[in-house]
Amino acid sequence: MISFFGKKNNEAKPAAEPEEKQGFFSRMRDAVTRTRESFSTRINDLVAMTREVDESALEDLEAALLTSDIGVQTTTEILDALRERAKRQAIDGGAELKQLLKEQLLAILEAPITQQAIPAEPPRVTFLVGVNGTGKTTTSGKLAAWLRDQNRSVLLCAADTFRAAAIEQLEVWAARSGVEMIKTRQGGDPAAVLYDAASAAKARKVDEVLVDTAGRLHTKSGLMDELEKMRRTAAKLVPGAPHEVLLVLDATTGQNGLQQARQFTQAAGVTGIVLTKLDGTAKGGIAVAIARELKLPVRFVGVGEQMGDLLEFDPAAFVDALLG
Ligand code: GDP
Repeated sequence: MISFFGKKNNEAKPAAEPEEKQGFFSRMRDAVTRTRESFSTRINDLVAMTREVDESALEDLEAALLTSDIGVQTTTEILDALRERAKRQAIDGGAELKQLLKEQLLAILEAPITQQAIPAEPPRVTFLVGVNGTGKTTTSGKLAAWLRDQNRSVLLCAADTFRAAAIEQLEVWAARSGVEMIKTRQGGDPAAVLYDAASAAKARKVDEVLVDTAGRLHTKSGLMDELEKMRRTAAKLVPGAPHEVLLVLDATTGQNGLQQARQFTQAAGVTGIVLTKLDGTAKGGIAVAIARELKLPVRFVGVGEQMGDLLEFDPAAFVDALLG
């Protein structure tokens, strides 16, 4: 897997300890429990009953996938690929069908993953965008702690100046994760606070600036204009910034979240997704639809409300957790 922070991160922290790895897989498995129950029960039953993979078995699989949050377009593509494969070479029973399905899902999830650009000079600037309530502020705080664990120095920028509560909430996260935060008063100019944060980070050679942005203004175009202004401000101070724009998406909104994501993707230059609230939802299949339809990599998943409840997304672990 290509890590969110590329090689440098791997050098700083070599291969995960087996125990740590074990913990990661079991946490991913726990997080998708409800998705697995709804998604794979039907598929596993079908696989167990299938001796011969004919058109009717493929239609049953199609029906099972259509009821998940993978969506019509992605399901159709997966089935087209399986039919194509069956034409070339017969699929030898349910077990092979399941294996091929896993390969398809993995290929879809891996396709949009790109090597992360680490700027030659710090800081690296990451915007967190998305509508209110998706978990943007919580994710900013968790990500700050995650980066600290990777030995990266972090500065949080409270640019959601629209909501006073967001600034206070982020302050609590900053204290918890032991990172500094730059803020302004409620209603202050988000581009101005970003300017301050980026300047401070440059002067102090901080590795990472995480910018928590507003989720809703009076009008949607107002929100997008504000993001655009922030992009320009960041780029003026730090070449190539923002290096990452992470769209925070609530997994429980399933296919509706995709529509939201499309709007942000066009206007805000989104480079990756953080899929929150994966715990407790059966709609985790949305990760596959995001990768396929938006051509965006899922970078992280939120699996709870606590500081450690953010996992770097690993397509293979996810597919294994889903289909066993
Ligand atoms: P924002 O308006 O987008 O900044 O959203 P917040 O960060 O305030 O989060 C909204 C709610 O979602 C809060 O109650 C969070 O605790 C909760 N939340 C955020 N991420 C997760 C997650 O991964 N799992 C669960 N279960 N709750 C989450």
